[in-house]
Amino acid sequence: MPDPSAATILEWYDRHARRLPWRIPPVQSRRGVRPDPYHVWLSEVMLQQTTVVTVGPYFRDFLERWPRVEDLAAADLDQVLTQWAGLGYYARARNLHKCARQVCDDHGGRFPDTEAGLRELPGIGPYTAAAIAAIAFGRSATPVDGNIERVMARLYAVQAPMPDSKPDLKSHAARMTPDARAGDYAQAVMDLGATVCTPRSPACGLCPWQADCRAHAEGLTETLPRRTPKAPRPVRRAVAYWMTRKDGHVLLRRRPETGLLGGMMEVPSGPWEEMAEFRDDPPVVADWASLPGLVEHGFTHLQLELQVKAARIDGRTTLGGVWIPVEAFGDHALPTLTRKVVRHVMAHLGKGTS
Ligand code: SF4
Repeated sequence: MPDPSAATILEWYDRHARRLPWRIPPVQSRRGVRPDPYHVWLSEVMLQQTTVVTVGPYFRDFLERWPRVEDLAAADLDQVLTQWAGLGYYARARNLHKCARQVCDDHGGRFPDTEAGLRELPGIGPYTAAAIAAIAFGRSATPVDGNIERVMARLYAVQAPMPDSKPDLKSHAARMTPDARAGDYAQAVMDLGATVCTPRSPACGLCPWQADCRAHAEGLTETLPRRTPKAPRPVRRAVAYWMTRKDGHVLLRRRPETGLLGGMMEVPSGPWEEMAEFRDDPPVVADWASLPGLVEHGFTHLQLELQVKAARIDGRTTLGGVWIPVEAFGDHALPTLTRKVVRHVMAHLGKGTS
């Protein structure tokens, strides 16, 4: 069986590339036109663990508000976090802002054009550095995302399970990376994985690499890539305290800068701990009422369950937080978890009541 070639997938890409707001169409990229590194960086950071469909409107809104990296660097962090709300993983938004500042302060507003230089910037890991270097600067770099891993695992019938097989899959992808059009090659394999070599029922009949694909020849397309079964996520539990004062304002506080949802606004809760029971330790003495049901939220490595208690309390207390009218919650960068708690309370108590 011949080795698959980049030329084959690039020909396919020229005809079938997805039209994405941050991309230069292949007809232009063949002429050497490259996308703005700011656009590539922004899209790649947004796309980490989020889908292309979700990212589209966020990408457009960010560019409308902050058309250049200098504009983003000059923005308030809170504005950036609010605009980011809904994309999750707020540490990425904080790094995005930090990175924009560093590009402006240390590099005169121009992104470094090598993988090594890009990796010096906050929030840019090996994948993102390779993607920007290849796509925005035409470097012969090989970003490897989940789509590319799946295609390589099938193309070469790699039997070792993920994540152990990652270095092997990367070396297959890197070996084929051309010196010219490295960015198009990476995007072509990503597109193939997203539209043809899909996780379930790959459309091998439409695949330009079908004749070169070992998994297809051996009838293994549905079983590859193999994965080491994941250990179940630990469950952490806590009680969240919904405090309302006389005028209906609700107490929110900012989480510590480091750790889960770092720096984001939350309904105050006890520490999130792995324990069989919910530990009820209210921050103030009041007539607390337990709301029925739980708020559940999945993080990458853990599952969180919050029991919610509500009370009307003395408005002079701040407990290190701020009193905010429920109508003004939209002005703050509330993470999904906090919004779930708000919805839970509204469903049981209605607006502004305790
Ligand atoms: Fe994926 Fe099928 Fe193409 Fe192989 S032939 S790379 S399994 S779509």
